[in-house]
Amino acid sequence: MAHNRRKTGTRLTGRIVFPGNPTYNAARMEYNRRFSKFPKVIVFCQRTQDVINAVKWARERGVRMRVRSGRHSYEGFSAVNGGIIIDVSEMNKVKVDRKRMVALVQTGNPLARVYKKLWDKRVALPAGTAPDVGVAGLTLGGGIGLLSRKYGLTCDNLKQVKMVVASGRYGAKAIVANRRKHADLLWASRGGGGGSFGVATAYTFRVRPISKVSIYSVSWKFDDLAKVLPVWQRWAPSVTNRLTSTIEVAAKQVGAILSTGQLLGGARELRRLIQPLLRTGTPMKVMVKTVPFIEATRFFAESDLNLEPKFKITGAYGFQPLPRRGVRVIRDFLSKAPNKHASVWSQSLGGAGSAVSRVSPTATAYPHRKAETVYELSARWRNNGEQQRNIRWVSRFRQALRPFVHGDYVNFPDLQIKNWPKAYYSVNFGRLKQVKRKYDPHNVFRFAQSIPVGKQARK
Ligand SMILES: Cc1cc2nc3c(=O)[nH]c(=O)nc-3n(C[C@H](O)[C@H](O)[C@H](O)COP(=O)(O)OP(=O)(O)OC[C@H]3O[C@@H](n4cnc5c(N)ncnc54)[C@H](O)[C@@H]3O)c2cc1C
Repeated sequence: MAHNRRKTGTRLTGRIVFPGNPTYNAARMEYNRRFSKFPKVIVFCQRTQDVINAVKWARERGVRMRVRSGRHSYEGFSAVNGGIIIDVSEMNKVKVDRKRMVALVQTGNPLARVYKKLWDKRVALPAGTAPDVGVAGLTLGGGIGLLSRKYGLTCDNLKQVKMVVASGRYGAKAIVANRRKHADLLWASRGGGGGSFGVATAYTFRVRPISKVSIYSVSWKFDDLAKVLPVWQRWAPSVTNRLTSTIEVAAKQVGAILSTGQLLGGARELRRLIQPLLRTGTPMKVMVKTVPFIEATRFFAESDLNLEPKFKITGAYGFQPLPRRGVRVIRDFLSKAPNKHASVWSQSLGGAGSAVSRVSPTATAYPHRKAETVYELSARWRNNGEQQRNIRWVSRFRQALRPFVHGDYVNFPDLQIKNWPKAYYSVNFGRLKQVKRKYDPHNVFRFAQSIPVGKQARK
């Protein structure tokens, strides 16, 4: 369907939703209901040409743009008031070439669909846990999950990206970035974050054979925190890289600590590997089993379902286990959490032979290669009246934990971090600005924390 907005300009193509259309309200919403923005138009693109037309249309009219796939941005970066949202979610083909062990994945795919399409060919891509997170944003920021320590981040497996970039004063064009052509754009697409350079429409990933895996979960009472967290933090990065694990400490009102993980190996080996956890505190429920990989992805997806609709999250990296004072900060904050939906979550990333840490911090735009663990501090709520208290709690919590942790993962963005370029990009920020100047000199793709064109480090 085509829509003529101006006699002479480029026409919008694809599925176009304007205010007043019965689907407008659903089409404008972000996953994080803390944000409620009202775009001028939303274009659901079905072909790369629809994306090119949308970028041209916006540039010719000076309309602000946002790029969107799975809508899961923590800070609502894929929404905009009065601008155009270029949505790729209806571009969702997946093609596997098992001979070359590569997969072409269009960027509109949610993770559950990627896992399923690859599983049909018995291959896998290391990616995240939530079923409806978009592969687009996940990959551009890094992509962490339960295969990270063995197979690296999602972006480490990205061989090629097709992207619509700005061209000339009002134009747009599709280019392909790989090791030979536009290698700098491929570098920036591996951890430089979404939305700053152009609209990614298709990825080519390296994939790995997969069949069965083993998974575990162990839970404890909140009172075991001072014992369990230090043991998990020493154990998780030192165990075989075939095992990636998580720990989540819920608010004291809930009173539970839960550790889960996935091993590329059998249940007997996994039971042996988790012995240090089982010997700590008083484990309540223990589960260890071998399952088809696709079932494991569903098991890990469960923790991301049925959450409160509004949230504030911040992230950080651990380069070593927290000292006792750090563990005390976590205990204290979770003891006075604003409600029972607050938590601290952590996943092992680095350590012994990990594929994440084997890559140099400057080889891709994702710099946090030496971190042993990544953290998320989160607060969730339903009613607007609770918002301020929850946001303040997350912000104070971050400040209190700062002496013990570093930086932040760009896919866990936080508008309250003043020096976000350093937190997200560290040594790679300078090079990211160079890539930005080359591919988007007019700063067409911009939002509160996009890579700037000029010298300024903050906006
Ligand atoms: C419930 C939940 C669970 C999560 N679990 C994990 C996890 O296990 N592992 C992990 O690493 N992360 C996880 N995340 C974080 C997730 O990686 C980020 O929120 C990611 O940015 C989401 O991408 P999206 O496409 O869904 O979001 P969107 O909001 O659509 O986009 C996010 C950013 O990318 C840009 N973008 C979107 N599409 C494109 C495109 N086609 N081209 C260029 N830029 C684009 C947007 O403009 C925006 O800046 C989780 C998030 C949530 C809410």
